[in-house]
Amino acid sequence: MSVDPVGHRGPASLVERAPRVRLMRHVVVTGGAGFIGGAIVARLLASGATVTIYDNLSSATTDWAEPFARHLGASSGSTPRLYFRHGDILDLAALTETIEAATDVIHLAANTDIASGFADPRLDLEGCVLGTWNVAEAMRRTGVRRLMFASSGVVYGQPSCTPTAETYGPMRPASHYAAGKLAGEAIICGFAHLYGWRTLAFRFGNTVGARSDHGVVHDFVVKLLRDPSRLEMLGDGRQAKPYIAVDDVAGAVLHADRTAPDSPFGVFNVASGGTVTVRRVAELVAEAMGLDPAVVRIEAQGGDGGWHGDTPLVDFATDAIRELGWRPTLTGEGAVTAAALGTRARLTTLGGPLETALERRARPITVAAR
Ligand code: NAD
Repeated sequence: MSVDPVGHRGPASLVERAPRVRLMRHVVVTGGAGFIGGAIVARLLASGATVTIYDNLSSATTDWAEPFARHLGASSGSTPRLYFRHGDILDLAALTETIEAATDVIHLAANTDIASGFADPRLDLEGCVLGTWNVAEAMRRTGVRRLMFASSGVVYGQPSCTPTAETYGPMRPASHYAAGKLAGEAIICGFAHLYGWRTLAFRFGNTVGARSDHGVVHDFVVKLLRDPSRLEMLGDGRQAKPYIAVDDVAGAVLHADRTAPDSPFGVFNVASGGTVTVRRVAELVAEAMGLDPAVVRIEAQGGDGGWHGDTPLVDFATDAIRELGWRPTLTGEGAVTAAALGTRARLTTLGGPLETALERRARPITVAAR
């Protein structure tokens, strides 16, 4: 991984500007260097779209650009279709300049660390609310009228009825992050109605995959690689959530883009269907690592919630996205198993530091470290 001329992490060959004229389909993906962004960008490139990733790399892994090497002009010799702009969604001027050439925007950038938002609420105000406002305002200034937004199932809070449909209300978000995502939806909906846009918001379930460096599957793999005899869970293990493989999330977003009716604001729950408890995730991860779950000591830590703002029992109705013809390729359990296998392979091949997301956050960030 090289460092670009202003000292930010990213391959130098990616640090380029996209042409400023509007191409056939040019999608700006904020947060495109992240976990879900990587899967969406891969699909966009495969579909022939030109893509600009706009990202401040605050939570991207050091190897985020590896899957895209063949799209780099320098290495392929062909016209590059992937551009990278290092920038923050709080920088409205840079965002506006980047979005100027876009036909569509996919907005994924956000503070994705719910627990840190408890200690520092400004993270969610900036990352989820002000950042989303800026994306919408940059679109208004440049006349871009198509937006897809990564919301989250956490907007429901702890709903009184499950499986919860998109029409459920009133919403009672239980964290700054959840409130920020709900505010983001409202901001986008307002802009869309006023300026005649077509926007889609996706309420993702727990998204898992080999390239994630946070979340329950990643952390369980790390813990079991360090000590295969015991596994500590946050909460009592009965928290039940919907899971989905990251490739299925990317597929759902692009499928809805192609097939959803043209309306100012469409909203879709995105999950595989059904829930998996944390205890079951622990068993599946142990099995994927070749361990006998009956032998691993699975230890509960605390009550029914894993962390501040956790909503222990969540299940989504996914009829709306299924009615568009989308189907996940993996069940929730299948997604967890595949993610555990992939994470284990990645961590053992890379030989990097075996640390949970919490441990990583606790140490000072250096350019070389993440
Ligand atoms: P991620 O942390 O891997 O990706 C977020 C990306 O946004 C990173 O590349 C980061 O560097 C970038 N970013 C963060 N703040 C930024 C800023 N101020 N300016 C520019 N770039 C910034 O997270 P992810 O799991 O890929 O999540 C993507 C989106 O999906 C987020 O909006 C997240 O809230 C949402 N989401 C994720 C999940 C999940 O389970 N992973 C579930 C529901 C919703």
